[in-house]
Amino acid sequence: MTDATALTRIQATALDAADPLRALRAEFLFPQHNGRDQTYFVGNSLGLQPRGARAMVQQVLDQWAQLAVEGHFTGPEQWLTYHELVREPIAQLVGALPSEVVAMNTLSVNLHLMMVSFYRPTRERPAILIEAGAFPTDRHAVESQIRFHGFDPATDLIEVEADAEDGTVSMAAIERAIEMHGPRLALVLWPGVQYRTGQAFDLRRITELARAQGAHVGFDLAHAVGNLPLSLHDDGADFAVWCHYKYVNAGPGAVAGCFVHERHARAELPRFAGWWGHDRESRFRMAPEFVPTPGAEGWQLSNPPVLALAPLRASLALFERAGMPSLRRKSEQLTALLEALIHARVPQVLQVLTPADSAQRGCQLSLRVAGGRAQGRALFEYLQSVGVLGDWREPDVIRIAPTPLYNRYADLHHFVEEVEHWAGL
Ligand SMILES: *Cc1c(COP(=O)(O)O)cnc(C)c1O
Repeated sequence: MTDATALTRIQATALDAADPLRALRAEFLFPQHNGRDQTYFVGNSLGLQPRGARAMVQQVLDQWAQLAVEGHFTGPEQWLTYHELVREPIAQLVGALPSEVVAMNTLSVNLHLMMVSFYRPTRERPAILIEAGAFPTDRHAVESQIRFHGFDPATDLIEVEADAEDGTVSMAAIERAIEMHGPRLALVLWPGVQYRTGQAFDLRRITELARAQGAHVGFDLAHAVGNLPLSLHDDGADFAVWCHYKYVNAGPGAVAGCFVHERHARAELPRFAGWWGHDRESRFRMAPEFVPTPGAEGWQLSNPPVLALAPLRASLALFERAGMPSLRRKSEQLTALLEALIHARVPQVLQVLTPADSAQRGCQLSLRVAGGRAQGRALFEYLQSVGVLGDWREPDVIRIAPTPLYNRYADLHHFVEEVEHWAGL
């Protein structure tokens, strides 16, 4: 790794020139700042627009204009099976079988649908275990599900507290909690990457622990998908949900993803059913009884939102082109260099909260600004004013997520220089 103290603009530019993924940046549209591309570190919130997205959307609009209802049944991009166009690339991205994944709804909706099937509380086993400080939608969803079934979140919602000063949770703490509450656990719901700290978890280990206790296990992969290589099938969780507008760059409110493990493909699970989850072969007989399509597609409710799915196709094509192993390699290098630059040049301004171990993080670093909220806001606003975009988490954290698809080594250099400039260093 390059010596971060001495990293010059010229060296950063040389790293970019040698980057085998450098051509991908040109596939994205950047917001402009004073006539130049913004330095965009917010792919963890809303990924940039792939250039190919517009054509994908336009194609659907054209098909609608030219064919109207016949668009459902015409050509390779017929709307009847439009969601199937993204099935293979999504399966690749999350390490699943194509039959284990489906693009549908949005994350929170999918989380509820999954809990209908996989949170089946009984008097003996009513509890859900999550991390303390979970993303609000996850907490609202589990709390409302617990109440919906007539149980009490005060006793049946178990929140595992961070056990490190930086806000991260050790595997030992997770193990202790799962073992302590084991016989009462109906469900363990855990993030792939925690959104505030950027901490990544060992999904296989958590799955083993939960299943050993007889609990179902599901993952919220909002900050993991498109960020880390995943192996959902082999890790063996019952379900997972994620969105596609963060690292997957499919646009605001994009159609989300959902995984149901193969072992449940034909299981008679309780579910909220809709006609699009009905067996494909007999769906249009319009019979009254529900026969689910085997696999994750059996959880679909409605016919696919074709316009909303269109940009996802353009984005997934870029992941296919780059390959997750290469993306991860570059991502580890970008994040390690960012961390080294911060330690070497602005340690008095920024404290890294995200684990230093690359196995325990994706691309994001959560940075605590010294001096508290006012200083933090001042730095954040300064960075914005010079076209460097991170995102703000109360009370004093700036999250910076260099993504390997479109960020450059020069972006890291630029960020640290601007922090130095602001701090008068
Ligand atoms: C971004 C995010 C969500 C978003 O939920 P939507 O239903 O897409 O609005 C949910 N959970 C986590 C952990 C997230 O980071």
